[in-house]
Amino acid sequence: MKTLLITGGAGYIGSHIGCLLAQHNYTVIVLDSLVYGQSFDYPWATFIYGDFGDEQILNSIFTQYKIDAVIHCAASIEVGESVKNPLAFYENNVAKTIKLLRVMLNHHVKTILFSSSCAVFGIPKVLPLTEHHSFDPISPYGMTKYMMESIIKDMHNAYGLSYVIFRFFNAAGAWPEEKLGEQHIPETHLIPLLLRAAYEHKSFTIFGDQKPTSDGTCIRDFVHVVDIAHAHRLALSYLEQGGTSDIFNLGTGSGISVKEMIAAVDRICKTSVQVAVADDRPGDPAVLVADSGHARKTLGWDFRHS
Ligand code: UDP
Repeated sequence: MKTLLITGGAGYIGSHIGCLLAQHNYTVIVLDSLVYGQSFDYPWATFIYGDFGDEQILNSIFTQYKIDAVIHCAASIEVGESVKNPLAFYENNVAKTIKLLRVMLNHHVKTILFSSSCAVFGIPKVLPLTEHHSFDPISPYGMTKYMMESIIKDMHNAYGLSYVIFRFFNAAGAWPEEKLGEQHIPETHLIPLLLRAAYEHKSFTIFGDQKPTSDGTCIRDFVHVVDIAHAHRLALSYLEQGGTSDIFNLGTGSGISVKEMIAAVDRICKTSVQVAVADDRPGDPAVLVADSGHARKTLGWDFRHS
């Protein structure tokens, strides 16, 4: 049995990954500082409250448990906020990740799965986005992910750190049977905000309807969070079997616009969400759609949910 440390394991994506891996006989330790207002009350992991950049806590975890791999999901995530407050993003995402990597190195923990993002690409020049598309992040958030990817690759070259980096497109969905779902306080994401608007009969604000897309609103590639969790299971087996360190885009290859998402919520919730239009959100590319062919071919991954 293998023991995993998941930073941000009480968060939206990290909790789905942890739950699935526990079902596949991994021992899961969750380290989380609960900054998005969530709680952690699940039987499938040992929960440790703390910051992933706190070297004292990290040292005590790596001393107490023989950690085989770290799954690093913890990060500041709001693109718009990163434009307003970049230093906080560089401190939280980059500086603290360096501390985590340093402690891993000191404790000879040699495997990491890292949650990166399609935000590393910036404005796509070619769609769908393959792993080899050029990198030109247009938000500090995307830049922090790009910097962390680079640091991990350099650690691979210098110290033999094994890694799989996943660039998630837009995570969506939930795992109701396990009482897992998406909740951030404050919530900034499209689907939960739309569902809340439908449920509470509140207005929803579209950030920009003059984008160069067919209906003027942004297009995103929504990939189910449980499918993302399965990719992590496959990546661990891949590395355990001697697979080379690599980077994979994770999406479905299909884009949905903000207006199409509103129409879907209206249809499913049998309602008509009130909509207002505001300015573009800084740092938002018009279209992000993944080519996940590399994950399909190399890991045998595919999405099971539309
Ligand atoms: N969006 C929006 N109104 C909102 C929240 C999001 O129009 O209240 C748009 C946002 O501009 C983007 C898309 O929905 O084009 C997805 O945003 P989200 O924050 O969910 O994810 P991101 O793409 O930033 O990772």
